[in-house]
Parts: sequence; structure tokens; C-alpha cells
Amino acid sequence: MKPLEMNPTVRVRFAPSPTGALHIGGIRTALYNYLFAKKHGGQFILRIEDTDQNRYVEGAENYIIDALNWCGIPFDEGPGKEGSYGPYRQSERKHIYANYAQKLIESGHAYYAFDLNETLDAHRKDHEKKGKTFIYNWHNRQKLDNSLSLTPEETKAKLDHGTAYVIRFKTPQDKKLLLQDIIRGSIEIDSNVLDDKVLYKSDGMPTYHLANIVDDHLMEITHVIRGEEWLPSLALHQLLYDALEWKSPNFAHLPLIMKPHGKGKLSKRDGEQLGFPVFPLSWGNSNGYREEGYFPEAVINFLALLGWNPGTEQEFFTLNELVENFSLERVQKSGARFDPEKTIWYNHYYMQGKTDEELAVLFKPLLLEHIQQIVPAEFILDSDLLQPSNLQKLVRLIKERASFVHELWDLSNYFFVRPSEYDTKAASKQWRPETPQLMETIISIFKDITVFTAENIKTKLTEWTISNDHSFGKIVPSLRLALVGQLKGPDIFEILELLGKSESIIRIQNAISKL
Ligand code: GLU
Repeated sequence: MKPLEMNPTVRVRFAPSPTGALHIGGIRTALYNYLFAKKHGGQFILRIEDTDQNRYVEGAENYIIDALNWCGIPFDEGPGKEGSYGPYRQSERKHIYANYAQKLIESGHAYYAFDLNETLDAHRKDHEKKGKTFIYNWHNRQKLDNSLSLTPEETKAKLDHGTAYVIRFKTPQDKKLLLQDIIRGSIEIDSNVLDDKVLYKSDGMPTYHLANIVDDHLMEITHVIRGEEWLPSLALHQLLYDALEWKSPNFAHLPLIMKPHGKGKLSKRDGEQLGFPVFPLSWGNSNGYREEGYFPEAVINFLALLGWNPGTEQEFFTLNELVENFSLERVQKSGARFDPEKTIWYNHYYMQGKTDEELAVLFKPLLLEHIQQIVPAEFILDSDLLQPSNLQKLVRLIKERASFVHELWDLSNYFFVRPSEYDTKAASKQWRPETPQLMETIISIFKDITVFTAENIKTKLTEWTISNDHSFGKIVPSLRLALVGQLKGPDIFEILELLGKSESIIRIQNAISKL
């Protein structure tokens, strides 16, 4: 395929069925559609394929819309954003499809079939017993109950009588079909292996196949970009376009997203077993990427690279960069292995890219929640640390080690909770007989510092160590133990500044009396 330049007539659609939460594979399909549309200045359409009322799940449509919006890939036309091709829910387009089913009958490309479900089931079972599969097509349709085996009068009588029917596609016999896919190239299919799929049911509902191609045609879809699981339907869809004398859209079938280990497609169970989300947003008991603390930029970035390769070493892409660089020609044919570690790595990157101010705002509600769970006596209720500027300083000190905002709590809880016990191993090594005396001296030095900043504290302590022949190596670990309870945390002087003079002194005094 020649590269498409800016082409505002490009129209693509994401066409999910509202049968539950969208798997991240669905989001990737939506993303590739979005990127392709935006790259060419075209339109990205959301069409809800809800013809199968038995599988309809309340709330699923809103979920899909919320998920697209959270990911930052909103649609241009769709439910609630009517363009000139609506309605965008197939259940509201019911009246459209019968006419096309009729046309296919008139042109000899489809036929009425009256077979009872029980009869077909019996055929299926019978075949199974013989180790075969029952296929309704050219080789047996003359022996079954349909308008090809019946006379026109018999058919008319059945229809007049209100006998239940379905309309089946009459798949051509002995034809080599040459199908085109942008990602997979030419695909040859022998028409004899295809079955006569049901297109329409006498309850007035089209099946997926008919509704899908009619809508793609009427909505002037130029490129159908969808998951590999729809590749087996391509032959029928192409035959339907040909039968209706419509130009078919271009097709691109995306590779599957594979399990992190072993064979097969990524499933909800893999997520449950290995502890990562498979949904963009929470659904029922399953947590989503949003609720697990992922940034949408990270999700979009890792999804984009699950099956598409930019052709360079670049790993981080903003949405705009993805739009600029995306092409269907660089989508791979083979499955793309899902790597949960990498999703965390991406989140870490986007987290470090946030300003301290942004992170402090995101952290504050989580922090307050944690603080409320702590027994009041054990923490400093009126902590200045909750002031925006202090919280920003705090975040700057600790964020490097966090991949998620919620991890900031574990990295900073000692700021809010006075140590009630001390790491015994560290204490036995660092807290020596002379330490209490040294700590008393440090307290008195601190008392004399009027502006209690990291810089001033460091200067004063340095002066003291030099003139008394002490070393930082002797003082800092025990000081850290007193302030934090363990030998962890960022620069000790920064910790002191953030805790403030009086809180620092209280903690040192506590350590002297407890250790
Ligand atoms: N309704 C189908 C689905 O749920 C759409 C397949 C297609 O894009 O043609 O994925």
C-alpha cells in the first residue's frame, strides 16, 4: 500500500460489543484506530455493536466511553457525539439491515433457511460422533430445508405462513479468494471451506457480519483496523462487499497480545495470577490500570509498542509523537508478548516526569487517608509537612524510588509517624555507649540554629565534627536511626529540615531514652 498522506477522508471505527469491560487489547485496537485517524487528519468513530441482545451488559457502553476518555483518545463521532452518520448504536439502526438482506436474496447471494435448531443440532451431533464437523454450505445445502432446496411456491408458502427463518449467505463454490490485509499482505482462501453464515434472523435482527459491513459501508469507513480474531471473517466480509457491489474498506488485522509466559493469548486469569490489571478501569472485582495508579500516558505508551515498532530505538512517546510516527506498515504480524514489568517501568518514567507540585497534589488525598488510619498519639497531627510547599519538598526527596504515587507513602511514612521502635540490628551496630552523649551535644547545636535549613544544619555539624575530631560516619547513622527508626531515607540534612527543629529534637530525645 502506498503511504497515505494527510487525507481527511480517512474514517476508521472502533466497534466493540457492549458485553462487559474492555480488555486492554480492545484499548490497543482503539488506540491504533485513533493514531491512524489523527495521523491522516481523519475521523475516529465509535460504533456500539449491540445486535446480540443476549450478550448485552448494562453499563458496558459507558465503561467503553469512560475508558477511551481516560486514555486520552476520545472519538470524533459516536453515541452522544452525533455526526452525520448516526445513530451509532446498531440496536438503533435495526430498520436499516433488512433491506440489504433482501437485496442479497434478490441477487441470488443469500437464501432463506427454515431448518429447526433441533435438526441442525442433530446433524452436528451426528457428525461429531463420526469425528467430523458439520458445515452448512454448498456440499449439503440442497439437502437441507431452505429456499434453494424448496420450490419458489413452497418457500412462499412457508414465509406467508410465518415460519421462522434465517437468511444465509450463499458462499460460492470452487473459488480461490484473494484477500488483502495491510499487515499480512495477500491471503488466499478456498471458498469451499467457508460455511453459509447466517446474516439475518426472522426476529428482525441482523447478525454481526451483516450489520458490520452495512455500517462500515454507510459510515464510509475507509480502513477497518481490528483484532486478529476477526481475520476468519474477512473472506465473508469481502464476499458481502462484492455481492452488494460496494467497494470494500482496507483491512488491517492486529496481532494478538500474548501471555507474559508460555503460549496463548493474554487473559484475565493471567492478570489475576500474576497480579497485574487487564482492564483500563476497574470492573466488578477486577482493578483497572487507573485504580492501580497508572498514568494514562504510560498505558498508551506501552500499548502502542505492543505490536507496533517505530523502526528506531525510541521507547518513550507522547500521544502526539505516536500520531506522528504511527503507520500500519510497521505493525507486526506475530503476537506481541505482554510484559508486566515494562508497564511499571513506563509508569516510573511518566511519574518522574511530573512536577513536584503535580505529585504533591496527587499524593495528598492518599496521605490523608493513611494518616487517618494511624493512632493519633503516634503521629504529628498539626504537621507543617502537609503544607503544599513542604509536601512538594518531601515528594522531591523521595520520588525517584517510586513508580506509583501510592508508593510515596511507604517511602515517606516516617516523616508522619515518629519511630516507636528501632531497627535492632542497626541499633546494636550504630548506637554505641558514647552515642547518647554525642546526641545531647547535637541537640544543643540544633537549638542554636535559628534558620533550620539543610544547609545551615550541615554547616554547623561540619564545624563541630572538625573541631572535635568526630566524623560524619560516626554520627549520621545513629542520627538517622533516631529520626527514621531505620537506616533508610534520603539525605539526612533534608530530613532534618523537613521534620523541623522541634520534631527533630523530640525524636533524638526519644531515641536517647529508648535505645
Ligand atoms: N463487534 C466486534 C467486536 O466486538 C467488532 C469487530 C470488527 O471490528 O469488525 O470486536
